[in-house]
Amino acid sequence: MDHIAENISRIREKMALAEARAGRPAGSVKLLAATKMNDADRVRAAIAAGVDGCGENRVQELQEKLAQNAYAGAPLHFIGHLQKNKAKFLVGQVDLIQSVDSLALLSLIDRLAGERQVKQDILIEVNIGGEAAKSGVPAEQADELAGRMAEFSNVCLRGFMTIPPISTEKGGNLRFFAKMYQLYVDIRAKKYDNTSIDCLSMGMSDDFADAISEGTTMIRVGTGIFGARQY
Ligand SMILES: *Cc1c(COP(=O)(O)O)cnc(C)c1O
Repeated sequence: MDHIAENISRIREKMALAEARAGRPAGSVKLLAATKMNDADRVRAAIAAGVDGCGENRVQELQEKLAQNAYAGAPLHFIGHLQKNKAKFLVGQVDLIQSVDSLALLSLIDRLAGERQVKQDILIEVNIGGEAAKSGVPAEQADELAGRMAEFSNVCLRGFMTIPPISTEKGGNLRFFAKMYQLYVDIRAKKYDNTSIDCLSMGMSDDFADAISEGTTMIRVGTGIFGARQY
């Protein structure tokens, strides 16, 4: 189907090359398919071809495809901006909410998870480029928010996610990836309560090799797997 399986094997080869170049063990980076605007059949094709999980951006689209059983056999992540009034649709429904960007949202997810008697895994989204129009907590506030995890026993912080500024030059995001990796290592070392940090989600179709060289553990690839999106 539209070369989805071929695209995935080509990406796997590039991932292996980047891992080897960085002196990292083979298979240390996970491949998440960013499935927005791709229908259930295309999502199933990506899962059949062996992606490590699927990430959706919009709650409604996720619910539609979930109802079609599109994600069977793969972990499901939410990777888009999450409005507080939509959190109720995700808690206990997805394996990981990657885009927690405020104390208020964290607190709400904790309350919902408690009511539903589930433990919800999350990542904190960090606005590593300090861009005004982008969601995510400022890098300087990531540690403070991670420390507040102690108050939220129905949630487990698994790590951090970032979308760096759009870069036109080759290697343009290396310094942002490096800064994110440092933040991930530093906060992980603090072993805050209700944290079990093993995930750093960064790198997309155009820059995942650079993210791998700087220590990412999960890349999120849309275009590279499914082709250009038809808006
Ligand atoms: C769409 C999207 C991606 C994938 O982007 P591509 O450039 O198509 O690989 C990754 N992360 C998030 C949060 C996205 O919305």
